Amino acid sequence: MLITNAKIVDVLAGAIKSEDAVRISASGEITELGKSTTLNRSGDETVIDLDGRYLFPGLISCHSHLSVVFPFSLTDPNEDPALTAFRAAERAHEALASGITTLRSVHEQNQVDLYLRRAAKAGWFQGPRIFGAGRALSTPDGHGAGSACSYAKDFNGFYKAAIGELDDGADHLKIFITGGLARAGERPEDPEMTDDEIRGVVKAAEERNTYVVAHAGESAAIQQALRLGVRSFEHGYVMDQATVDAMAAKDVFYSPTLCVTRSESWMREKGFEEASIQNCLAVADRHLASVKLAIAAGVKMTNGTDYPPGDLVDGASAALHELFLMHGAGLSTLKSLQSITTTAASLIKQEDKLGQIAKGFFGDLIAMRGNPLDDPQNLRELDLVMQGGRVVANRL
Ligand SMILES: [Zn+2]
Repeated sequence: MLITNAKIVDVLAGAIKSEDAVRISASGEITELGKSTTLNRSGDETVIDLDGRYLFPGLISCHSHLSVVFPFSLTDPNEDPALTAFRAAERAHEALASGITTLRSVHEQNQVDLYLRRAAKAGWFQGPRIFGAGRALSTPDGHGAGSACSYAKDFNGFYKAAIGELDDGADHLKIFITGGLARAGERPEDPEMTDDEIRGVVKAAEERNTYVVAHAGESAAIQQALRLGVRSFEHGYVMDQATVDAMAAKDVFYSPTLCVTRSESWMREKGFEEASIQNCLAVADRHLASVKLAIAAGVKMTNGTDYPPGDLVDGASAALHELFLMHGAGLSTLKSLQSITTTAASLIKQEDKLGQIAKGFFGDLIAMRGNPLDDPQNLRELDLVMQGGRVVANRL
């Protein structure tokens, strides 16, 4: 596969590369960057002429739930796994079609993320590359109650539950260190795990050379988890200066999921219960203020939606909606673009394979008419989506 006449976006440098052609091997990796005038078609190689369009790395969304049920109260913890798979597969297709070529899932009922990945590897299913947590690990009465998590208590219980998900193929481990916004009476300020419980999960992660992702509502629990070795923080609804400074100093990653507290019409459309909606609206201002503090402190920001990332919110995928919200909160244009490409790739430890258009990287690519470096809104209209050198959508 040869792509010619492209303006290739270098997302690390924030510039257009001097080359304008990309060759992708049959195995789906970028083997060569060069000039359209000198890179010659070899044999019956397919050529896609982008006619001056911008070529951008496939998007990486880092906080997905493909199997989630709206409203949350309709979740059936005993659901037949086949039903979970149909629901999640449809959303995985939507995500891929909207340019999300990779996603990180952080709790899926019946470990459906791990099964979708197996199905994709076998060639039975086309979806984003999945880096999955399997099921989240939760205290029995915590934020994960009722949503088909793996439930545990104390150091040994959490350690065993963590090893169980890793044995089943999880890439990372997900915990809830505070309450959330899902139910009436639930508060993101309430801590949910003891030091020993967090230690049990971190130990399992370290033994398997991976890391822990924490649903984290507020400062004290984030500082607790930072001290104990958690690497990836989600939501951060209520954070103070000392906490964002500590996150920056520890060089951890933060997915703010701003769309959780800024998508009222979408939530109403999905039938969310009034209590969930009010919980989200009540914390919206503090959430935005916390994200602004994190941006100013230089915390590494990654794109995460908490929703199926291909779901449409205000006419864009949830992942783009989130990107626009982070940009609007003051994250620079380049860092906003990196939050869904290079920084996201570092988070999932794929910085040498994903998030850039360069030799040795996967041929995960999207193309558009406007320059995203001028305005990220240009990512709304995609003319081409390609994953591993395979065309997913072509509107050229
Ligand atoms: Zn979530």
